[in-house]
Amino acid sequence: MELDDPLGPSAPPLLGYVFDAIQGADVQAVHGYIVHDGETGQEVQIPYPEGADGKVQCGQAFHHGRFISGLRKKAQTHSTVCYIEGTALRLIEEDGKVLGIEYREKQSGEVKELRTPLTIIADGCFSKFRKSLIKTSVSIHSHFMGFLMQVSASTSRDACSWETRVLVDVRGNLPRDPKNYLLHEVAPNLPEHLREAFCKSLQSSHLRCMPASFLPPSPVDKAGVLVLGDAYNMRHPLTGGGMSVALNDVHIWHELMLGLPNLTNEKALQRAKRQFYQRRRKSHSFVVNVLAQALYELFAANDDPLRHLRRACFHYFRLGGKCVSGPVGLLSVLTPKPATLIGHFCAVALYAVYFAFKLEPWYAKPRAFITSAVVLHRASSILLSLIWSELKYFHE
Ligand SMILES: Cc1cc2nc3c(=O)[nH]c(=O)nc-3n(C[C@H](O)[C@H](O)[C@H](O)COP(=O)(O)OP(=O)(O)OC[C@H]3O[C@@H](n4cnc5c(N)ncnc54)[C@H](O)[C@@H]3O)c2cc1C
Repeated sequence: MELDDPLGPSAPPLLGYVFDAIQGADVQAVHGYIVHDGETGQEVQIPYPEGADGKVQCGQAFHHGRFISGLRKKAQTHSTVCYIEGTALRLIEEDGKVLGIEYREKQSGEVKELRTPLTIIADGCFSKFRKSLIKTSVSIHSHFMGFLMQVSASTSRDACSWETRVLVDVRGNLPRDPKNYLLHEVAPNLPEHLREAFCKSLQSSHLRCMPASFLPPSPVDKAGVLVLGDAYNMRHPLTGGGMSVALNDVHIWHELMLGLPNLTNEKALQRAKRQFYQRRRKSHSFVVNVLAQALYELFAANDDPLRHLRRACFHYFRLGGKCVSGPVGLLSVLTPKPATLIGHFCAVALYAVYFAFKLEPWYAKPRAFITSAVVLHRASSILLSLIWSELKYFHE
């Protein structure tokens, strides 16, 4: 199952088209997030922002495979699309320019060539083609274990059950016996109302494991080729922003290509590439990438300064008002403004300083100065290194 954020008024029209592809694919409406704090047992609700009609906007949760099949079917209905299924084997290159691909056709098993003025590479998180095209490399700080959980609930009127996706993040490498780990290390820390369903579903569900990768963006200078989706840029899946980034990138290219005289004009294409990098950074990718990585650092806190920041972040959400509407506007990619992200991150760091002083007894207040300095140093090093990773290769 996959979550995609609400289609707000600023969402590209192309996304509406894409979402036609998931109609009938067991789409569930998602109204926001709930964060549980394991230390205190408290929770905070973070609803999506309200739309112009005053109603809370909805995200969509759906089976990824069914969505992809829907997209493929939709693409095939266009008379200009020639649909070929196969495995891309290698890029055909000449004089530093990509001229097409060599592929194995699924139906015949034959190896064939496809030559084209522009090759678009979107071979996902394990991309084998990105290596020779982009400057950044993938880093993996954690892994996800996922399965489908059956949840049953009964109200005074009736009983219902539904299926939801569970993703458990583990820092570093996967445990040797993942099921055992989930049962004995993770289940006891879950909110009580989820524990039974979690343990029961774990026995019968197929457990899947995936690396949570980070790949900052960098320019693709080679002529004749574009790289999109996870092959180009990845961030921690905690905030579920991967598809929003990929679909918004496609939308930007859709608009840029309308302005190109043709796909063989290399100068115009290079100009369009530069516009693409700038537009995506301003419109969505900076916020989604930095937010996902920064939130992950906080939520997976493994040292004291990060634990202070995590507690401050949780209580910041509990303040409500702008402390919720601002961050959720960023999380949902409805108002992804870089300045808003930096502002809220700094506010959380200062809130952590406030807690450092508040929680110390009067005779130990001087210790709070040291704690605050360490927390602020940690917060700024996380934020600045993430900002740097977004801007490093884009100086103009
Ligand atoms: C655990 C986890 C949970 C996530 N949850 C969410 C979420 O809730 N919401 C969200 O928005 N994002 C989520 N993401 C991120 C999201 O899944 C990706 O950002 C998105 O799928 C990227 O799409 P893509 O088309 O680039 O890559 P993919 O979806 O990986 O598609 C790549 C395709 O290329 C094909 N391919 C690969 N090599 C070749 C080849 N040589 N020849 C031909 N075909 C090839 C593959 O078979 C595949 O079909 C999650 C990621 C992870 C790891």
